[in-house]
Amino acid sequence: MRGYDAVIGLEVHAQLLTDSKIFCSCRAASGLPPNTNTCPVCMGMPGTLPVLNRKVVELGMRLGLATNCSISRKSVFARKNYFYPDLPKGYQITQHRFPLCENGYLDIEVNGEARRVRILRIHMEEDAGKTIHEGRGPSSLVDFNRSGVPLLEIVSMPDITGTEEAVAYLRELRQILMYLGICDGNMEEGSFRCDANVSVRPAGTRVYGVRTELKNMNSFRNIQKALDFEIDRHIGILESGGAVEQETRLWNAAKGRTESMRSKEESHDYRYFPDPDLVPVEVDDVWISHVRDTLPELPSRVRQRLVERYGLPAYDAGVLTQTRELAEYFEECAKILDAPKEISNWIMTEVLRVLSEQGISIADFGVSPAGLAELIGLVRQGLISGSMAKEVFSEMVSSGRSAAGIVKEKGISQLSDEQELRDIARGIIEGNPNEAEKYRAGRTGLLGFFVGKLMAETEGKANPRLASRILKELLET
Ligand code: ADP
Ligand code: MG
Ligand code: ZN
Repeated sequence: MRGYDAVIGLEVHAQLLTDSKIFCSCRAASGLPPNTNTCPVCMGMPGTLPVLNRKVVELGMRLGLATNCSISRKSVFARKNYFYPDLPKGYQITQHRFPLCENGYLDIEVNGEARRVRILRIHMEEDAGKTIHEGRGPSSLVDFNRSGVPLLEIVSMPDITGTEEAVAYLRELRQILMYLGICDGNMEEGSFRCDANVSVRPAGTRVYGVRTELKNMNSFRNIQKALDFEIDRHIGILESGGAVEQETRLWNAAKGRTESMRSKEESHDYRYFPDPDLVPVEVDDVWISHVRDTLPELPSRVRQRLVERYGLPAYDAGVLTQTRELAEYFEECAKILDAPKEISNWIMTEVLRVLSEQGISIADFGVSPAGLAELIGLVRQGLISGSMAKEVFSEMVSSGRSAAGIVKEKGISQLSDEQELRDIARGIIEGNPNEAEKYRAGRTGLLGFFVGKLMAETEGKANPRLASRILKELLET
């Protein structure tokens, strides 16, 4: 990269799928009318006291164990002090010196190459409210529904050396969070958001350059673009003899560039101190091993199993493990019908297409694994052709009926009777003597012409492979 190496460290905030907020019993839901989901605790009224939601600790440990962290037997909540209208207490409750999880790592693959990104820490904290500036002229509005919604912050070491690697890390982390039922992973709505720290240094050197922190990217694409832009910007500054300024910058997606937001605050600006309202969080070995024992299989493990047990290509395994539910759907089908690659093809094309058209997830898909397996079975038995199967599939999706039922009722079936096909083929060859002669004189490409005629004659019902074999035989004898 023009003689420079990039260094990237990522801070991810994941909103937790708990029923209630982190320190009060308000619901941790989104999409409610503004300021209808608050209470004196999350509004920061004097005299109220926070009570920690046990589930937040449990979800934090789950992620910590899944990312190879050590779990602190004792961790401490701290106050991060700053003023902003969306923070009525004047401080955010977070963890500072003693986080819940430390020193983990995530193994990822970038262009077929294995990479390990170390995780510095994972800590619990509360979210702030939301200020709404757009379309409000000189005034802004504040919605406090989000105040006190639990978050995990996952901080990576500056181990990432390129934008693709950054995205691969984020995808893997997001997938783990979703598999573990910790977070819904929605980037547009901000339940999975990422601040990216980036710096550059002369290739091969070890001392870190000055970093900038990027915010406001709400998709993988924007993260990649923002990082690419910023790396270029840093290199440009250094090449022209300037110095990068440590600051926080916002990604402006419309203009395709980062813009200065504020000079970077230092940790001591926040006057962190242990929150006197909350006792330290203590977890014992029994609790930790209980969480460990109830961890579901991680996405990397499922991908590996799909390759090893079913002989699927790595690409297929990647697509099928998008979500845990999709992988389960595949495995259900594969249990019923021993045709993993065909099942995979059907899911990757037809099933995913319907899901995206209908804007639903596999959990709400109308065709059951048994239903899809039955349909693919009919194709394998030669009873219907691949293209018939697609029609039957559409019908299954719209009517909810079974493949066999549709085939029977509509009289859809493939003509696989050899004698019958042979008779039809003879008729076609006799009806087209010129083409038959040319074929016999060496223009074997005309086979397609005959197959086409035969398919037309049988209204597409002929088994195409059988038909073409028979035509070839007849033309060559
Ligand atoms: P802060 O307290 O300002 O958020 P941290 O030391 O906690 O700073 O680091 C935040 C993130 O910045 C981490 O993900 C870390 O890996 C990353 N980081 C630190 N130094 C650099 C650097 N020189 N270049 C890129 N990323 C960095
Ligand atoms: Mg930070
Ligand atoms: Zn509340």
